[in-house]
Amino acid sequence: MSKHFGGRLSRAADETARAGLAGLVVTPSADLVYLAGYDPPPLYRLTALLIRPGHDPLLVVPELEQPRALASPAAKLVEVTSWRDGDDPYELVRTVLSSSGSGTFGVTDRMLAVHLLGFQGVLPGAKFIAASPLLATLRARKDPSEIHLLGRAARGADEAFRRMVREGLEGRTEQDVARSIGTHLVDAGHESVAFTIVGSGPNGASPHHDPTTREVRMGDPVVLDYGGRVGGYCSDITRTVSVGEPSEEFREVYEIVREAQEAAFRAVAPGVPAQEIDRSARRIIEDAGYGDLFIHRTGHGIGLEEHEPPYMVEGNAEPLEVGMTFSIEPGIYLDGRFGVRIEDIVTVTADGGQRLNNAPRELTVVG
Ligand code: ZN
Ligand code: ZN
Ligand code: ZN
Repeated sequence: MSKHFGGRLSRAADETARAGLAGLVVTPSADLVYLAGYDPPPLYRLTALLIRPGHDPLLVVPELEQPRALASPAAKLVEVTSWRDGDDPYELVRTVLSSSGSGTFGVTDRMLAVHLLGFQGVLPGAKFIAASPLLATLRARKDPSEIHLLGRAARGADEAFRRMVREGLEGRTEQDVARSIGTHLVDAGHESVAFTIVGSGPNGASPHHDPTTREVRMGDPVVLDYGGRVGGYCSDITRTVSVGEPSEEFREVYEIVREAQEAAFRAVAPGVPAQEIDRSARRIIEDAGYGDLFIHRTGHGIGLEEHEPPYMVEGNAEPLEVGMTFSIEPGIYLDGRFGVRIEDIVTVTADGGQRLNNAPRELTVVG
């Protein structure tokens, strides 16, 4: 893996120069993991990666975290320098950046305000702007090693779904079902579980429903949406199942969502504007008369973060590129009754979209 980070660091430096920035300041976040393979907690003690065109990248860490930094892939790629409790870490950064101290620096979106204020305090002549337009563009195009991990994560999520179907849902509380999903994800190779949405019956009409003590009953539609991490990369899948025989209405709504999901998937190709994926799904749902009940965007990018650019949403005309990987997850939500959502992770190849999830998309009846 460490061979990838060198390329990422040099691309980030190139983009920094091209954007006319004096440098990038990256504190603990998915950006830092992406660029240097280093994942410390985002604490008040300052950790910061400094990237400047024409200079070697420098990682500033608290002395007590130096062993941890030196054990990470970052140690082979960047110079590591430490500061000790009682020292002023911002002053240390100022001495490094002072030659470009009146320039403009890009900072990671997830930087704690206390750090940004610290930098502003020691570099009053400098300007700080969001680095996200630059870093998000790099991170959005996944390389083969990233797609490999996203694929493993997706297959683990598929396997957890198969195990849930075998296990059955009837008579169990949503919270119990959620716990089972978590266990299956870990058994199927996930290192951690990020979230488990179990929306049974009327609860399925709330897209981000928190599992409750409601017992799943015969005849309930149930929305299962969950994800976790494999090798740092996220999974995210939704399947809506029928516990026992589905009603005519549920079957009908399900088919509309399935068609919408399929239409959006078929629209995926390099060069297609992201909003076209949203429009392809929305058109089907609108034509069926449920347009007002599809209350969210069609999808989000996924990688080191559960939700990251590019977003499949009206207004995003950014063209899709090979390697971009995102969810396609249209839904219809009937308040007080039930909801339906179907979500797969899809990656863009030269020939079109490729699904990383392959759990069945036709309506599954479970016990
Ligand atoms: Zn969501
Ligand atoms: Zn999801
Ligand atoms: Zn999602």
